[in-house]
Amino acid sequence: MRIIRYQIKNETPKYGWIHEDNLGAIDGNPFGEYRRLKAETPLQNARLLAPCQPSKIVCVGRNYVEHAKELGNDVPKIPLIFLKPPSSIINPGDTILLPPQSQQVEHEAELVIVIGKRGRHIAAEKAREYILGYTVGNDVTARDLQKIDGQWTRAKGFDTFCIFGPWIDTDFEPLDALITCRVSGQPRQMASTRDMVFNVGTLIAYVSSIMTLEPGDIIFTGTPSGVGPLKDGDEVEVEIEGLGKLTNPVKNEK
Ligand code: ZN
Repeated sequence: MRIIRYQIKNETPKYGWIHEDNLGAIDGNPFGEYRRLKAETPLQNARLLAPCQPSKIVCVGRNYVEHAKELGNDVPKIPLIFLKPPSSIINPGDTILLPPQSQQVEHEAELVIVIGKRGRHIAAEKAREYILGYTVGNDVTARDLQKIDGQWTRAKGFDTFCIFGPWIDTDFEPLDALITCRVSGQPRQMASTRDMVFNVGTLIAYVSSIMTLEPGDIIFTGTPSGVGPLKDGDEVEVEIEGLGKLTNPVKNEK
């Protein structure tokens, strides 16, 4: 099933689900008890929103060998994690704003895990029980500021720097999926999720050994090689085969 959050005109945003070219509302909480109402509203009548509202956005750095190398880093022995603030989230299709503080804002195409159930100290073998599904992500990064700061809060935390969606797929298999990123039609990133250093189960075990994971929390699993700069007027497309595609325009912040 594909779960969305959507808005029609100025109505209150709702959770829903997609069937072919239609959407139906979800009555209840997609992270708990719910009922699917008939999918009879054409998708084009709705605006798709970020598909959940995470209390925290956990990200994994250097989880692909080739990407660690391209930035001159070693692959970490244990997962390297950081947080993005929820205020950095924009919706699928919204504009990424390039802040004046940075001269080098880059895309990072990533597979994103959506947590379905509260958990702490989750064993890797049990991780599946805590996952609602997967979505496509773009962990936008001010690379120059990341290099200057050491701590990555500024480089990763600007408004509009967190994009995920357009839906949560509850049946997706993450083991060997092709991730691609194109910028204004030009290919930039292409790799399989099988090249991850730490897999989904290991990441959930590691993160939940530190912090309680809540329903709707999301984990960006790291980006493959091929990251590169975005400029005013670009359009970034991140796609994961069998999962979905995110497209966002890029503009200079005024
Ligand atoms: Zn990233």
